[in-house]
Amino acid sequence: MLQPLDKALFQNSFVEQMRGEASMDQSPRQVPGYHYSRVLPTPVADPQLLAWSEEVAAFLGLERPPERGPAVDALAGNLVTETMKPFAARYGGHQFGNWAGQLGDGRAMSLGELMATDGTPWEIQLKGAGPTPYSRRADGRAVLRSSVREFLCSEAMHHLGVPTTRALSLVRTGDEVVRDMFYDGNARPEPGAVVARVAPTFVRFGNFQILAAHGEKDNLQALADYVIRRYYPELGAPSPAVYVQWLEEVCRRTAVMIAHWQSVGFVHGVMNTDNMSILGLTIDYGPYGWLEPYDPDWTPNTTDFGGRRYAFGQQPRVALWNLMMLAQALIPLVEDVQTLRAALDQYVATLNETQHRLMLRKLGLTAQTAAEEDAALLGALPEALAEAEADMTLFFRHLSHATPSLISHPAIEEAVLQELLEAVSYMDAPEKHQKLRQWLGQYAARLRQETAAPEEIRAGMLAANPKYVLRNYLAQQAIEAAETGDLTLLNRLMLVLKTPFDEQPEHDELAAKRPDWAREKPGSATLSCSS
Ligand code: AMP
Ligand code: MG
Repeated sequence: MLQPLDKALFQNSFVEQMRGEASMDQSPRQVPGYHYSRVLPTPVADPQLLAWSEEVAAFLGLERPPERGPAVDALAGNLVTETMKPFAARYGGHQFGNWAGQLGDGRAMSLGELMATDGTPWEIQLKGAGPTPYSRRADGRAVLRSSVREFLCSEAMHHLGVPTTRALSLVRTGDEVVRDMFYDGNARPEPGAVVARVAPTFVRFGNFQILAAHGEKDNLQALADYVIRRYYPELGAPSPAVYVQWLEEVCRRTAVMIAHWQSVGFVHGVMNTDNMSILGLTIDYGPYGWLEPYDPDWTPNTTDFGGRRYAFGQQPRVALWNLMMLAQALIPLVEDVQTLRAALDQYVATLNETQHRLMLRKLGLTAQTAAEEDAALLGALPEALAEAEADMTLFFRHLSHATPSLISHPAIEEAVLQELLEAVSYMDAPEKHQKLRQWLGQYAARLRQETAAPEEIRAGMLAANPKYVLRNYLAQQAIEAAETGDLTLLNRLMLVLKTPFDEQPEHDELAAKRPDWAREKPGSATLSCSS
């Protein structure tokens, strides 16, 4: 039976089991000695529900609320029910490679946990519900722009099969929030919003780092034990050996997440250690983007244009660096530091294995021929795609459709090749297509060694290569419309991105190559952390 959120029974394991400040003082400050601070959301003018994830709601046993009313008030922070014990977590982190000290939930607060229909507890967290002790000099708010982006993308990622936090609701606050989107002195008021996001826990690498940095060993161990007992119960009772196994498992899960990002062309944009989930979930959707022309150097984040630390091709390396920082924070818990080093090896092993497996699937190949030959074929693809400026999503989708024809003709027909290249490449110059043409020839030869029927191979590829992703300019168009009160595109994207592997021919235009006008447009091609 579904119930309204304002009648739901919340549990508060983090508040009850971790160490929290008793004071409700929400002024910005350092909070040494604690895992979290109890907080209260700051009410907003006129909460109105804009979007609702039916699937997440059903999983949590929640009924869809009307546009305004007590449930939406709770989703905006205007109503705190009796069983909610809102808290903001204390964490630190490395930002762009530098230790930044205490960061913490500056504009996020968890209301508590709801028991899902499968019997597991899920934390409900409001993003943008007002200041906390961790807000530093900022306002604790979020704009509609960034909230639409987080809501749409986290759900889209889930439906693509990428490990991620989820989103339950998007609420417009009725208040305005002033933001200088590109830090260029052009601050302007924007509509404010609150997203309710959902995950088993929002604990990040940075929660452990801040405790290690302050020498709070008891708190460090308590947090590790909490996470292991609740989310890694298969590891057994925490002990020095179990902490190592746990790090190994975090490495594995992080590797699986990164392999998925690389396989769909997702660029997180700001992979600071405070934005790395201890469960290996994609977390904190900010200046993220989707690869359109394949380019390992691409990042949507203007703040990162100098170093391109978080560019697409850097993500696997950065995740390892982040895991090393986590391992460092765990040193006080283990007997032999070398065991942590060995645990980190799991990351590379799992990443390579998963990336290889996902790529074989995308290409319709089964691991039956010489592994080295396949590795060479897969290894040559990125350069060929980059040189042709091929749209990552379109390339794999069109390739899927082309397989029966590639298989049945001994030589690739020029017409098939030409059509494919035209459909996917942003680059007119034929000489830039040379490498990809050559690669396609080798690929077709390899494909012909597969024993499955061509149609079966195609079906497998279509199930591995999405037709629809949240292209940067589409998100931006949905935002601009939503800002004027028009939710048509937002709703349409929500619907289409639920089944991204289905043809849905009536939505073809949402799978089109990025139009020229969107190439340099702020919000479509470039984003900043300011949201
Ligand atoms: P992010 O770059 O979104 O991961 O945020 C980095 C840190 O800044 C985190 O501690 C956030 O809670 C904090 N933060 C970001 N935006 C705001 C805001 N508008 N108000 C308060 N804190 C914020
Ligand atoms: Mg963050």
